[in-house]
Amino acid sequence: MMTLEEALDRILSSINPLPEEVVAISEAVGRVPTQALLAPTDLPPFDNSAFDGYAVRSVDVARASKENPVILEATGSVKAGEAPVEIVGPGTCMRILTGALLPAGADAVVMQEDTRIPREGVVEVLDAVKAWEGVRMAGDDVRRGAVLADAGEALRPAHMGLLAGSGFARIAVHRRPRVTLLSTGNELIPLGGVLKPGQIYDSNSLLMRALADQDRLPIVHTGHIPDTLEQTMAELHDAARQADVVVTTGGVSVGDADFVKPAMAALGGSLDLWRIAIKPGKPFAFGRLGAAYWFGLPGNPVSAFVTWWLLVRPALRRLMGRRSTRGRRVLACLAEPVANRGDRRHFIRVRFDDAGKVRLAGVQASHVQSSLAIADALLDMPPGAHWETGREVMVECVD
Ligand code: AMP
Ligand code: MG
Repeated sequence: MMTLEEALDRILSSINPLPEEVVAISEAVGRVPTQALLAPTDLPPFDNSAFDGYAVRSVDVARASKENPVILEATGSVKAGEAPVEIVGPGTCMRILTGALLPAGADAVVMQEDTRIPREGVVEVLDAVKAWEGVRMAGDDVRRGAVLADAGEALRPAHMGLLAGSGFARIAVHRRPRVTLLSTGNELIPLGGVLKPGQIYDSNSLLMRALADQDRLPIVHTGHIPDTLEQTMAELHDAARQADVVVTTGGVSVGDADFVKPAMAALGGSLDLWRIAIKPGKPFAFGRLGAAYWFGLPGNPVSAFVTWWLLVRPALRRLMGRRSTRGRRVLACLAEPVANRGDRRHFIRVRFDDAGKVRLAGVQASHVQSSLAIADALLDMPPGAHWETGREVMVECVD
């Protein structure tokens, strides 16, 4: 059986990022630029006031204090959005509001709170300011030419402000993979249906849809396949023509009703890997059918979740153009002893407690969804390991 790393390596090395498309910046959250986005201008674009006050020449007020106020003549005002024509000359100042362009001649702003107005047209400055105090300098956030967002890095909400602030309206990003999600099994009933004895709801469809939504992927089709070779072939055939990625759950083990691999073979698809030395998720399969990538997840819901997280998600991210496909890992401290008595590497569902330490999220069997639902992270544990309370462990967040 393959290790997780070998499997991931084989999958990622067979995948190239999808080609470029141009999208409006308003649609770009989560998307991945094909080229570094460089600042076309300084940000802020001009020297401006950090607060409401008076634009001054710092030399004029270098000795100002409460006891010895400096008296300046007020010669006008500038609000945000205006471009002042007057110049601040010796002995004068100009009323200025937050974000307004610093008038020529001035090199500092005195806070309104540090001034008094004895009469119209006169300002008493009660505190000294140094040159450039109270001024947000052009380019102090971003210098023209600086990297605002790197190629291969997914754009976050905060990038939107930065890019919009720099005037980007449309950007080139990798196309997102179109995904088809297929569940298999005669026992599965769609949501809203009435269960007969022996039947269960098709929960994996929803689970996978929610996972795909986290990466904002377009889902072209969600379907259910009964356990027959013909129907499995027909669904896979259609799916591979419409989607970049086809994910199935169930039917990849060695049971009599497991038709996904035989159907792939009958359609001329490739089975590039099958079975990984992890728990849960051993029967995971990966291959290609036509131009589509196929991921065969085990049917047990927790196995489906864990293999999506550890194998499908990195592949989707690579297709989206992300350089780093790794999940977020954090160092944590065990709040209780944990053991892996099995002979396979176990990804254990853990939860952060109120003290910030991790403990088991509950029963670890691969059909148990209640512990998965409350898990914050997966703890990667080698076979035979016994770890004590207080041990520092690396966990991969799954929330
Ligand atoms: P399989 O790999 O098809 O043998 O399925 C393994 C286990 O997962 C069985 O108990 C199935 O009933 C269950 N299972 C398979 N597909 C789903 C699904 N879409 N939703 C919920 N449970 C499923
Ligand atoms: Mg099945």
